[in-house]
Order: sequence, then C-alpha cells, then structure tokens
Amino acid sequence: MHGAKDDSGPSPSRKIQKRILVTGGAGFLGSHLCELLLGAGHEVICIDNFSTGLRRNIAQLKRFDTFRVITHDIVEPIDLDVDEIYNLACPASPPHYQTDPIQTTKTCVIGSLNLLDLAARRRARIFQASTSEVYGDPHVHPQVESYWGNVNPFGPRSCYDEGKRCAETLFFDFHKIRGVEIKIVRIFNTYGPRMRPDDGRVVSNFIVQALKGEDITIYGDGSQTRSFCFVDDLIDGFIRLMASPSSLTGPVNLGNPGEFTIGELAEQVIQLTGSRSKIVRHPLPVDDPRQRRPDISLATEQLGWRPTVNLSEGLAQTIRYFDELLSQSKRKVMEPV
Ligand code: NAD
Ligand code: UDP
Repeated sequence: MHGAKDDSGPSPSRKIQKRILVTGGAGFLGSHLCELLLGAGHEVICIDNFSTGLRRNIAQLKRFDTFRVITHDIVEPIDLDVDEIYNLACPASPPHYQTDPIQTTKTCVIGSLNLLDLAARRRARIFQASTSEVYGDPHVHPQVESYWGNVNPFGPRSCYDEGKRCAETLFFDFHKIRGVEIKIVRIFNTYGPRMRPDDGRVVSNFIVQALKGEDITIYGDGSQTRSFCFVDDLIDGFIRLMASPSSLTGPVNLGNPGEFTIGELAEQVIQLTGSRSKIVRHPLPVDDPRQRRPDISLATEQLGWRPTVNLSEGLAQTIRYFDELLSQSKRKVMEPV
C-alpha cells in the first residue's frame, strides 16, 4: 500500500454526508466510532494493520455499503479523498505498546506525519487520539490541559508517552504552518465492550479473571488511582469536538472524573460478577502513574460534554459483553468436529 492512491468519490446518487477516514478503526474505540459515524449516514473508510484490532469488531459493519476497510500500516503514506480524519491507530494497552516500542513510536510520529500530510493535501479536518499519558506520573492533580506533565523520556512507557507528545507537536505545527484544522483529545482510561480479553489493561483483565474464577492480579498495593470512562460517553465527546468551531483545536481532556483506587475497582468487579476469585499482588510496573483524574471543565464549557455512565453501570455492561464472548468460545471448544 506504499503511497497508495484512491480518488473514487462517493456515488452522487447516495445521500452521503461526509467521507470520513478512521485509522485504527478495527480497535476497541475505533470500531465504536465507525459504527456511530455509519449510523449517522457518513461514508467511512477504516484503515487498520490489525496488530491489536480484530475483524470481529467490525464484522457487523459490513451491512453498510458505505463502509470500507483497508489493511494498511499508517507508518507508510496513503492518499485518499476524504473530508475528515480521525487518527486512532496505535496500540493503547501498556503490554501491547511495549511489545514493539520502536513500531509504537513510529506509529505515533511517522503515522501522524503521514496523516497530517494527507489532511493538508485534501484540506481535511484531522482529529488526534492523544492520551492522559502525556501527563506521565503527574505532580498536578486533577490534570488540567495546561499542565506540561512529568514524563520519563526513556522508560518502558516512553515509546507511547513521548510518541503521543511528539504527535501533538506535529499537529500544532501543521496547524500553524500549513493551516490544517486540528482537534486533539487527551483520553483518560476508557473501557467497555470490544476490548480484547487479552488486552492487558486493568478493566478487561479483572473482568475476565473474575468470570473465569482466576486470581485477580493487582499490581503494587492497589492504592494507585485511575478514572474510568465508559466508551459511549467518550465517543460522544469525539463527535462533539470534531463538530466544534475550527478555533477549538484542543487539547481537550475527555474522561470520567470519578476516581477509584485499583483495589476498589477489583472489589467492584468481584461484587458485580459474584466471583469467588481471590486477589493476588504482582509487582508494580516501572513508571506506573500513582494517580490520575481529568479536569473536564474545558470539555464541559466548550462542548457541553460530561460523562453520563457511572462505573458500576459501565462495568455491568462490559461484564455482560465478556460473559457472552467467553461463553461463545467455550461453546466452540465443546462443539464436536
Ligand atoms: P486498540 O489497541 O484497541 O486499537 C488500536 C487500533 O490501531 C487497533 O485496531 C490496531 O490494530 C491499530 N493500529 C495500531 N498500529 C497501527 C498502525 N501502525 N497502522 C494502522 N493501524 C494500527 O486501542 P484503543 O483503546 O481502541 O485506542 C485507540 C486510540 O485511542 C489509540 O490511539 C490510543 O492511544 C488512544 N487512547 C485510548 C485510551 C483508552 O483508554 N482506550 C486512552 C488514551 C488514548
Ligand atoms: N493494573 C493492575 N492489574 C492488572 C492490570 C493493570 O493492577 O491486571 C494496574 C496498573 O498497574 C495501573 C492500573 O491498573 O496502575 C491501570 O493500568 P492499565 O494498564 O489499564 O492503564 P494505564 O496504566 O495505562 O493507565
């Protein structure tokens, strides 16, 4: 797909609103975004290299004749005729982004560069999925967008944290120098259906462990905190930011300000699943942030956005998803061949 070119516009007979590119569209967040955009009548092109994304996440979207999937790595340039770009391509789970840290940095930096070039050529508005990790292990709490962060430039998380920071730099420089319309969100820990059971992040780990009756693995003493946002709330924030006036570039924090210790999360998962799993302690990973909570004043003032799904409701929906998924795979194993 190196330098691939595609100029086929939407057919004039169809009532298409916009032609939208979603990179990382087969991932957890990307698949929800594609679904919402298609439902709103847009034409959606999903680009994914399927490194962490799954075909089953987008299988049900094949019913839309306005949906197209291109298997492509954003580290290589691509040319497409599009009106808007959402850049979500990048592994988000620490074990996944640390598996090939050089590829992670390339995805963040070279991938963003390629998409910004495309946006400049096509005069397309471009959205970047940045992260609360740009604040690192924060000294300011809760985190406001004006805080510059506390990031280790060469630790195990750096490929992701510094990659995403550099991507923000590139977005702002393309905006200043080439007039590209940019939208940057800093996403705080988000969970929900379509996370991989082997994703490695805390919510999916705890739910899958609880449902299987396996030990629940708390890293460290479990006193570190995170703020967990349900996927539907987050995607609503994406849409609002993309539709906002061009003067609002971001970065804008999106996340649920409810703050929980990891120990409290484990207790809630055990209670909601009725599991008899026991809690075990594993060493705390290097550079694991101690506390994290978004200040969402900017999103509330500028976008009228605030999360509506609390942790126990969101966990209950996510538990139902994993329960069904695990039962399906059990049924497959038991089917006679
Ligand atoms: P995910 O791993 O489920 O999805 C990432 C998708 O990008 C996958 O489909 C993967 O195959 C694809 N991808 C990775 N590298 C690629 C490349 N070089 N070229 C093309 N496709 C590539 O993760 P997610 O949770 O859906 O995260 C999506 C985006 O949101 C990421 O950019 C992530 O950094 C950001 N983000 C997510 C969270 C969260 O809590 N979910 C928090 C902060 C930021
Ligand atoms: N964590 C944990 N057990 C797990 C997975 C993660 O205790 O099985 C902890 C992890 O050390 C971190 C928090 O949960 O303190 C959130 O981890 P996650 O990987 O979900 O996201 P991130 O660290 O990137 O915020």
